[in-house]
Amino acid sequence: METATGKPLIELNDIKKVYPMGDVDVHALRGVDLDIVSGEMLAIIGPSGSGKSTLMNIIGCMDQPSGGSYHLDGQDVSSLDVKALARIRNEKLGFVFQRYNLLARTSARYNVQLPLFYAGQSGAEVEKKALAALDMVGLSAHAHHRPNQMSGGQQQRVAIARAMVGNPLVILADEPTGALDTVSSNEIMEIFRRMNRENGVTVIIITHEMEVARYCQRQIHIRDGKIIDDAPITDPVPFCLEGL
Ligand code: ADP
Ligand code: MG
Repeated sequence: METATGKPLIELNDIKKVYPMGDVDVHALRGVDLDIVSGEMLAIIGPSGSGKSTLMNIIGCMDQPSGGSYHLDGQDVSSLDVKALARIRNEKLGFVFQRYNLLARTSARYNVQLPLFYAGQSGAEVEKKALAALDMVGLSAHAHHRPNQMSGGQQQRVAIARAMVGNPLVILADEPTGALDTVSSNEIMEIFRRMNRENGVTVIIITHEMEVARYCQRQIHIRDGKIIDDAPITDPVPFCLEGL
């Protein structure tokens, strides 16, 4: 599936990122070319320090590349200012992090509502959307629980609901299972896969674990700031038909 312009949803051309560190430059990305079409679910795999988070920050419009071009949904975003990038993040992207990044002392529902408040929405509709998103991740009965009363797996589900509530084109998840045990990790990956299949959201998972990547359709290996391999997942984890 392509966007209305006939282009991939995400198109990176020769993306470079240099961090000046005093006298030396750290070349975190050394010319990344990557096309992602709408509806894909892919894993970006690589060892620590290979540039995964740097790449995610650029794809997620949280940081600008030092060189190269980036088109998202047909729009050149490599030269936009901070305000325009913030709007794109809010309208088109959802984020999930290793440490959940939830407000610990407010309810799950309030956490999920926050992106809608930032987007200028208010009223009963916001509450309805948040409850629907919590329902999608199997937490409708936990809407009034606070994250500090929840397990890691439940907190990550709240974070996925928060990422989905604005109906994004893309979900970006940086090591989303990095703090979870194997059972919760599999559960979380199953939820991402369901969001991808049932809602059509494009999912990008950053991981250093092959087991996690096996929930995706495509794997991209990155090393020393370059893509060294880009291939389909040939032995995916069987799809779980049971509800959560
Ligand atoms: P990964 O997520 O794969 O562990 P990163 O993208 O975090 O890798 O880092 C890639 C390289 O860039 C590493 O050498 C790291 O030390 C460096 N780096 C990342 N962020 C910064 C920064 N803000 N300032 C300087 N160097 C950085
Ligand atoms: Mg990282």
